Amino acid sequence: MTKTEGAARPLPVPAVFRIDPYVPGKSSAPGVGRIYKLSSNETPLGPSPRAKEAVRAAAEGLEAYPEGTARVLRMSIGAKFGLEPERIVCGAGSDEILHLLASAYLGPGDEGVFTEHGFLVYKIAILAAGGAPIVAKETKVTADVDQILAKVGPRTKIVFLANPNNPTGTYLPIAEVERLADALPQNVLLVIDAAYAEYATQADYAAGESLVRARENVVMTRTFSKIHGLAAIRLGWCYAPEHVCDAINRIRAPFNTSTAAMAAGLASLADAAHIEASIAHNDQWRDWLSREIAALGIEVTPSAGNFLLLRFRGAEEAREADAFLTARGLILRAVAAYGLPDCLRLTVGSEEANRLVVAALADFIATRTKG
Ligand SMILES: *Cc1c(COP(=O)(O)O)cnc(C)c1O
Repeated sequence: MTKTEGAARPLPVPAVFRIDPYVPGKSSAPGVGRIYKLSSNETPLGPSPRAKEAVRAAAEGLEAYPEGTARVLRMSIGAKFGLEPERIVCGAGSDEILHLLASAYLGPGDEGVFTEHGFLVYKIAILAAGGAPIVAKETKVTADVDQILAKVGPRTKIVFLANPNNPTGTYLPIAEVERLADALPQNVLLVIDAAYAEYATQADYAAGESLVRARENVVMTRTFSKIHGLAAIRLGWCYAPEHVCDAINRIRAPFNTSTAAMAAGLASLADAAHIEASIAHNDQWRDWLSREIAALGIEVTPSAGNFLLLRFRGAEEAREADAFLTARGLILRAVAAYGLPDCLRLTVGSEEANRLVVAALADFIATRTKG
């Protein structure tokens, strides 16, 4: 006899109600004419024209199920990054891969570790899998290997590390990630979420392929949502030991990656010039925004992503700045849910949007100093 027997309606497992639903970045500002959405880390350059064409072409044949193992796309990813296709699994965004990993490796009472200001999907995935979320402190809004290790115990089954992290933009040099991988017990899975890898042009950064290849307990996840500009199509992948691929292939839906998504991904991988242009745009404007905004007296956290964390003098001022910018159609991301109530996250946008943001912040600071 279970607790729910005799209930008046079906009841989800209790963990479901411990999950705060993920709240995406705002995308509208009522009453404002032109909107600049700088709240979801989408690329201002959009996807490769070739990817759009591939999606149009995929409209012929919508009645047929996709090829369920994403074989062609895995071969293309493998060729591009020098990885073994049999160690790649594709999914409906890397979010799906994160959920699959949590479901495969966490049971009731098991613990999943992530960092203080880490990506919120980890907590959701851990709870949804029946596990217990464990938070490791950060140092200077940056993941701290020793703090993570201090939270790893006999019940730990998985550690999620976003590198670079969203929403802070901070990253760990690959040597630090390697130190973490070396110090973790061999039965603990380390998931390196490298959603922003292409934007991390810092010399001591690497996404982590080499750590995956050399170990049985490290996975790297990647996405087509960010630099590839294909967030709408839902496509991500992981590079993992074969035994991990085997585990998540058993539990994933057999047709989790659509034909249109795979076609778009393939076409985008073939357009290296588009990716290079996106990296160059981001490098240039991330630097410019950082300088200009810091010059206004707003603290800017150095970023390895396509976004900046701006810190105001308190939560109230952050809310005021958010409202001020929104009234001008500039939509940033409030990050109080990440434990950063005094901050806003700004996605690097088009030149026009970036200049408007700096002008608006200057006006905001001017009103603030007067008042
Ligand atoms: C955007 C993002 C992802 C990617 O999510 P998709 O499901 O692939 O769109 C993964 N991790 C982090 C940290 C992100 O910010």
